[in-house]
Amino acid sequence: MKKLTRVLMLILAITVLLGACSRKSGAFTVEEGVLTMVTNAEFPPYEFWDDSKIVGIDAEIAAAIAENLGLTLRIDDIAFDAIIPSVTGGRADMGMAGMTVTDERKKNVNFSESYAKGVQVIIVRDGSVITSNEDLFAEGANFNIGVQESTTGDLYATEELADEGLATMFRYRRGVDAVQDLVNGRIDCVIIDNEPAKAFVAMYSGLKILETAYAEEDYAIAFSKKNPALRDAVNKALAELIADGTVQSIIDKYINID
Ligand code: GLN
Repeated sequence: MKKLTRVLMLILAITVLLGACSRKSGAFTVEEGVLTMVTNAEFPPYEFWDDSKIVGIDAEIAAAIAENLGLTLRIDDIAFDAIIPSVTGGRADMGMAGMTVTDERKKNVNFSESYAKGVQVIIVRDGSVITSNEDLFAEGANFNIGVQESTTGDLYATEELADEGLATMFRYRRGVDAVQDLVNGRIDCVIIDNEPAKAFVAMYSGLKILETAYAEEDYAIAFSKKNPALRDAVNKALAELIADGTVQSIIDKYINID
């Protein structure tokens, strides 16, 4: 009996010690041993459904980060505008969704180092009267602009065009729905990130991406401000994965370099 107590005491001591070690950095996850990522899997090639699995650049980089940290990755697919509330509300550890770093978002979340560049581009129908970015800003312009709700394409166009009386906004849950309405003629253009734009344009005929970009941006991962140590741990993992070429090889797998 005494021996059993001693063994139990020893197990208890080891458990406490291990717990203390793993908590040393101060990083914690919503579920022990699991890195819970929220995304909006409507954004190829960064995140999209392939049969019953979420794949893409973000999904694979996140899997490599989780492995580096000794955690199991779980990915939840939610609405894009629910990602930051989910992270700040402690329901997920990180938001990774081709998310652009903006000053407004920085007020609510901590961002990791940037791992990719994004460009907001304009998709039009072949033969459109819109031939460049400047046409949207021309005096008297009033185009119907499609965007994915709450994305930077929406934020910029609303502020710079619609609020100035130069455009009417059409907001969609999914970028592909905006593109569908462009094909149908309901809207005149779609402002969206360049890589999803390429993927959507390839799905339909009669569409093209204008050469002039609307805005250039940095993508990063969003974390709760209450868990800075997790952001730091992920930054460390990310730096290692960038240095050893893992991040680039994942990007190259999904993006054809011309
Ligand atoms: N980069 C854009 C943003 O952060 C779009 C992201 C997305 O639709 N997943 O707003």
